[in-house]
Amino acid sequence: MKLLEERILKDGVVLGDNVLKVDNFLNHQIDPVLMQAIGDEFARIFKDRGINKIITIESSGIAPAVFAGLAMGVPVVFARKHKSLTLTDNLYSASVYSFTKDVTNEIAVSKNYLAESDNVLLIDDFLANGQAAIGLLEICQQAGAQVSGMGIVIEKSFQKGRQIIEESGIEIASLARIQAFENGVVKFVPEEEK
Ligand code: 5GP
Repeated sequence: MKLLEERILKDGVVLGDNVLKVDNFLNHQIDPVLMQAIGDEFARIFKDRGINKIITIESSGIAPAVFAGLAMGVPVVFARKHKSLTLTDNLYSASVYSFTKDVTNEIAVSKNYLAESDNVLLIDDFLANGQAAIGLLEICQQAGAQVSGMGIVIEKSFQKGRQIIEESGIEIASLARIQAFENGVVKFVPEEEK
């Protein structure tokens, strides 16, 4: 997605060897105009899949997921990372290890909001090593829900997330695919290699 790639080049900051900071438009300050374009693009890609629900993970998946939900006319459920007083039992849950933060979070979704009858699109801000995505898949498996695709805003294609998710038979649509960081500069996967 050209608009997104341009924004990454303009405002993304490469930290160390493999982390991209996008606080300016996605992870802290949010650009609603860009998020709406992202939501519309996910809706276009997944329009014929009979999707009736979007599942994401707090907090950075929520903005793109809500705009996709708006464009598709379906509800959005976010997996919670923190124990809530009002979310105590009746849960599907999975453990997710974050390489960027070096912590394991227990993520959970209420059984009230995910069921066997659901046909789900998973959405997240980044795909890196695939741990968050696997956690969301596990939760959908516990519910017996069908997963009909995964929409990712920014994929770091040099990490192993895509391979792991594709092995589980799930189709991934990433709106920006990063091949490498070269001396702090973002290089995207060339069109012919996608
Ligand atoms: P994974 O579980 O695929 O290893 O990583 C996915 C999660 O880690 C994303 O939801 C995102 O929050 C975070 N993450 C991974 N890599 C990056 C990165 O380069 N930049 C930012 N801002 N977050 C990242």
